[in-house]
Amino acid sequence: MSSLTEADELQLWELLPVPAQQAVARGDVTIADLLERMTAASRSELCPRCCVRPVSVHHRHIGWCATCAKKLALAASEERYAELKAADKVNAAKMRLNRLRDALEPGRERHAGPGARAARARGEQP
Ligand SMILES: [Zn+2]
Repeated sequence: MSSLTEADELQLWELLPVPAQQAVARGDVTIADLLERMTAASRSELCPRCCVRPVSVHHRHIGWCATCAKKLALAASEERYAELKAADKVNAAKMRLNRLRDALEPGRERHAGPGARAARARGEQP
């Protein structure tokens, strides 16, 4: 991209809303970066998820903007974490139930699961 003159930057500065001017003043973003982001969508394919930002993550399985890609990656990892947490709770509940059954029925045979049941049905020792 061609470099911006001071007059170009001033003209763009005046277009910016106050929070964007403050971000530029803090050094969080440059006017050149904002201009690049403002014009990128018109130069390239739009993200099929949000239809707002240009595709910027070019991966064999992903062709979204960086914001959508990051949001979906976060959602996928949070979903997996929730599954693991739920599985932990189910296992803890099963162990509590087994301890209670052991206390109520000392010497009872433990349920060993479908694999052991199938082995017993075939006459094998688990
Ligand atoms: Zn997007």
